Amino acid sequence: MNIPHPTDPRIVIVGGGFAGLELAKSLANKPFQVILLDKNNHFTFQPLLYQVATGGLEPNSIAYPLRRKFRNAKNVHVRLAEVHEMNPHLNILSTSIGDIQYDYLVIATGSQPNFFGLDKTRLLPLKSVPQALQMRNHVMRQFEKAAVAKNEAERSAYTNFVVVGAGPTGVELAGALGEMKRYVLPKDYPELDFSIMNIHLIEGLDSVLSAMSGKSSVDAKKALESLGVEIHLNIMMVSRSK
Ligand SMILES: Cc1cc2nc3c(=O)[nH]c(=O)nc-3n(C[C@H](O)[C@H](O)[C@H](O)COP(=O)(O)OP(=O)(O)OC[C@H]3O[C@@H](n4cnc5c(N)ncnc54)[C@H](O)[C@@H]3O)c2cc1C
Repeated sequence: MNIPHPTDPRIVIVGGGFAGLELAKSLANKPFQVILLDKNNHFTFQPLLYQVATGGLEPNSIAYPLRRKFRNAKNVHVRLAEVHEMNPHLNILSTSIGDIQYDYLVIATGSQPNFFGLDKTRLLPLKSVPQALQMRNHVMRQFEKAAVAKNEAERSAYTNFVVVGAGPTGVELAGALGEMKRYVLPKDYPELDFSIMNIHLIEGLDSVLSAMSGKSSVDAKKALESLGVEIHLNIMMVSRSK
C-alpha cells in the first residue's frame, strides 16, 4: 500500500462514509497513523442522491474526493481499496490492493439495501452516484421515447412512474418527479402533454413517512398530492415470476 511503517499506533478505518470520514477527521494530526480505506475514492452525501437521480443536482455537488479532506493531515493515508476479509487473530486485513496490519480496526462500511423479497434485477436502487445517474438516464430516456411515440397509449406508458416505499427517500423522489412534471419537463418537452404523466407512490403501511411524527406524515401526503402524486397505502409490491 506504500504506507510507511508507523511510529504511532495504526488505526485502519474501512469506509469513508459519514461515520468513517468523521472519525478520520477527528484523528487528523493526532498521535496515530490513520489509514482510511474505501472502495470508492469519494464521499457520497446520500441524502441528496434523489436530486441527482431527478436532474436537480450534478454528481459533484454530492460527492467529493476523500483525499482532499486530508491534504493538511500528514498522519492520514487514504487508499482506494475494497476490503475482502479480516483476520482478527493476526490483526490483518485483506484488500484489493494487498494486506495490511492494524493495531485498531474500525469497520464503517454502512448498510446494504433491503429489497423486501423483490427481484432486484428489475429494480433501480438508489444508494450510490452511479445508481442515481442510471436512474436519471432511465427517466430522461422515457421522455425521449414518449416524445416520438406513435400514439397516446404508448406515450402514456412511457410517462408512468412507480416509486415503491414512502419512507423519506421515496417521498423525496416522488415529490421531485412531481416538481419536474409541473415546472421543468413542459419547458424541455413542449411537444408533450404532461397531463398524461402519472406518478404513483406505493407503501405497505397505512401512512407516508410512518417513522416520523403524525404531523410530518399528514403534511407530506398533502404536499405530494398537491404535486399530483397518487399515493397508494397498505399495498405490498411483489415480484411477478418472469
Ligand atoms: C437515498 C438515501 C437517502 C438518505 N437520506 C438521509 C437523510 O435525509 N437523513 C439521514 O440522516 N440519513 C439519510 N440516509 C442514511 C444515511 O445516508 C446513512 O445513515 C449514512 O450514510 C450511514 O453512514 P455510514 O458511514 O455508516 O455508511 P455509508 O455512508 O454508507 O458509508 C459506507 C462506506 O463504506 C464503503 N464500503 C463499504 N463496503 C466496503 C468494503 N468492503 N471495502 C471498502 N469500502 C467499503 C462504501 O463505499 C461507503 O463509502 C439516506 C440514505 C440513502 C441511501
